[in-house]
Amino acid sequence: MTSVEDILAAIRKRGEVRCPHCRHEFNMSEGELYIGRTSYHGEEEPVPTDCPKCEAEVYFKEHVTRTWTVGRTPTEAEEL
Ligand SMILES: [Zn+2]
Repeated sequence: MTSVEDILAAIRKRGEVRCPHCRHEFNMSEGELYIGRTSYHGEEEPVPTDCPKCEAEVYFKEHVTRTWTVGRTPTEAEEL
């Protein structure tokens, strides 16, 4: 049986960015560390870098998802 906890864990896991060599989890919100690893609209080639933990070469590819909201008024449109 699938519980809410299982679903939430699966969603969290999908957002994980881990080193394919040592499973080190990259914190993509650490802007200084990952400057240059993100691209415009996800159109650029994968960007190589070294894992800070095992020092193996890994490649970053950014995938961008867009979402929209709509409303009867501007205020309503800004609400999710
Ligand atoms: Zn690593």
